[in-house]
Amino acid sequence: MRRSLIAANWKMNLTFDDALSFVSSFKEFKFDTKKIDVLIAPPFPYLSDLGKALKKINKKIILSAQNIHFESSGAYTGEVSAEMLKSIGINWTIIGHSERRQYFGDTDIIVNKKVKKALENGLNVILCVGEQLPEREAGIEKELVISQLGMALYGVESDNISRIVIAYEPVWAIGTGKTARSSDAEEMHRSIREYIRSKYGRKIANNVRIIYGGSVKPDNISDLMSMPNIDGALVGGASLKFESFAKIISY
Ligand code: PGA
Repeated sequence: MRRSLIAANWKMNLTFDDALSFVSSFKEFKFDTKKIDVLIAPPFPYLSDLGKALKKINKKIILSAQNIHFESSGAYTGEVSAEMLKSIGINWTIIGHSERRQYFGDTDIIVNKKVKKALENGLNVILCVGEQLPEREAGIEKELVISQLGMALYGVESDNISRIVIAYEPVWAIGTGKTARSSDAEEMHRSIREYIRSKYGRKIANNVRIIYGGSVKPDNISDLMSMPNIDGALVGGASLKFESFAKIISY
């Protein structure tokens, strides 16, 4: 059985005090650590201190970066490398989020370079893919998502797939309040798993986690999680308040 992953993507939100108080709320909060992984992706400057705070709380909450650069070091003002994250004990990063693709020029080629750099450094990756509304309206959403995935995974060996979680995030559902119907999301997740099977074989495909993102909230999480190929959620807006994120974890 695949473990669920419920991930909070805070994006560029919350002050450090907000972040610390959010994380401290886990002290009193219980969830099934045998079945569920909980991950938080805060802004870069908070990672180190939140890591220390979580050690004291002694809860198995995973911390993740929201992005990395594809080079190891050098003259790249404002960027953060996989090596730097490793050096402060961070083992996860999101890559290819649609906001990175839309506002920061992360093309499929750049996403592929970032995925490889993360894996080279032993990081785990939440790899985001998803179609825009015109692509869904034109009925080409599956081709689009599978092509994004194929390019992101170009040259990635089968040994490394266990360190990748695929996040299907239809762009039209992100931050809009419009969630994909659970049956539509399930259909896409099934196609993604089928693609992984065709490329890496059945065993790897059965084990890879495919999570859904796009307006996930306390009132739609259980419906999404009831689908056989939906293994978790990447939550933006509803992860900014502890109460609503806690409800999502307790789906
Ligand atoms: P949302 O964001 O939950 O606010 O739609 C999800 C995401 O962008 O990861």
